[in-house]
Amino acid sequence: MELTSLRLKEALEGLENKKFSSVELIKSHIGRIKKFNKKINAFITICEEEALSQAREADTLIAKKAKNALLGIPVALKDNWVTKGIRSTAASKVLDNYIPQYDATAVVRLKAAGAIIIGKTNLDAWGHGSSGEHSDYGNTLNPWDYSRVTGGSSSGSGAAVSADMTLVGTGTDTGGSIRQPAAFCNVVGLKPTYGRVSRYGIIAMASSTDSIAHLTKTVWDNARVLSVTAGFDPMDGTAGKNEVPNYEDLLQGKISGLKIGIPKEYFGKGTDEIVADTCHKALKVLEDLGCKLVDISLPHTKYAYPVYAVIQASEVSSNLLRYDGVRYGNERKMFGDEAKRRIMMGTHSLSSGYADKYYHQSLKGRTLIIRDFMEAYKKIDVIACPVWPFLPFKFDERAIDPLKMYLSDVFTAPANVSGNPSLSVPAGFSPDKLPIGIQFMGPNYSEDLLYKVAYRYEQETKWYLKKPKLYE
Ligand code: GLN
Repeated sequence: MELTSLRLKEALEGLENKKFSSVELIKSHIGRIKKFNKKINAFITICEEEALSQAREADTLIAKKAKNALLGIPVALKDNWVTKGIRSTAASKVLDNYIPQYDATAVVRLKAAGAIIIGKTNLDAWGHGSSGEHSDYGNTLNPWDYSRVTGGSSSGSGAAVSADMTLVGTGTDTGGSIRQPAAFCNVVGLKPTYGRVSRYGIIAMASSTDSIAHLTKTVWDNARVLSVTAGFDPMDGTAGKNEVPNYEDLLQGKISGLKIGIPKEYFGKGTDEIVADTCHKALKVLEDLGCKLVDISLPHTKYAYPVYAVIQASEVSSNLLRYDGVRYGNERKMFGDEAKRRIMMGTHSLSSGYADKYYHQSLKGRTLIIRDFMEAYKKIDVIACPVWPFLPFKFDERAIDPLKMYLSDVFTAPANVSGNPSLSVPAGFSPDKLPIGIQFMGPNYSEDLLYKVAYRYEQETKWYLKKPKLYE
């Protein structure tokens, strides 16, 4: 059996029982990256030598029976996670030669848990995009169908986990960027509660909606990684102080009796029939497990994307100001079209005379969206709905029209506007074998509940056993 086909849980057990070493595990993943990355383009940087030397250290610790949560495990970081001594580009030529002097807090925690960084993954530059087509380092191909997008902006992490190039991938979800590639690549992706994982050292996109987490092959794997990265950080003024539970221990609980809300706004006209049917089938599985399905309405859903668009672009225009080409990075003229578009939209909606019409109005809209969710959670425990309105699409199908691309975020942006957690899990395939995801949303800090529901569903359906057939 190939070591790359293992999931995190099995890899940890194998390492502990000395079935193989961390050096072997890393070598086999690096081998697979070298074989397929030329085509798939999931990685911007591969850290072969550093990873192997860390693997040797991990093997020494394993021999001494050390039990760190991710000891000896390969992890691929989205390239907007700042890494000490390793180039961090955010997939923009502006940062083409940027080598940070410090690690993001989440990176510090992953390393302390024994994780090994095997590379930095591709993304839409600065996180601006839903498909992976806005990277200055080329498109990432969907391992399930090379003519289609992976979903973005964490395109490389989605592809890398799906293609067995890594056991764990990381991401940022500002309007859907972890859940979207997870859904298009048949992997598990969490957008945690805003503030659950520190933003310190993560290259900012829209600071009030940026959520930091991971993509993995299974729900257990995801829970294990969140137990490592979550928690208060004095370096991030918005980091939550809530205690971090041991998420993987909480997976086993019962889900019968839970009320699952099905928002009608997510199953309407604009949703592809195959996607809607697949989600209904997934809900039937949960109903058979004893959950109660409840029809609900989130009446302001239609405002969620416009609200997100204005707030996000406003914050983007402010965050990208710091790249002035003086202290670090290249000149501003290196920004790509998408970043320029957002800077223009953001400065416009913040400018005097327009701020009331756009920015302030959007903040009011945000309150309405938050209230929709709060009202819903009085009646139900979890919301279930599609991640995307449609199936993985072909390159250039939407990229030619920015508005068409923006509208692909209609189902993911609401949880970013409200700050609530949302977990995307594989829910099956279209007749032509394209992955489809379902997302479970819940109130703030309900990650344990979302994991529990998703875990039971995953145990019943085991979609993660299906793998794409790669070719060079
Ligand atoms: N697709 C969304 C956008 O283009 C979200 C991006 C993200 O979550 N980083 O804004």
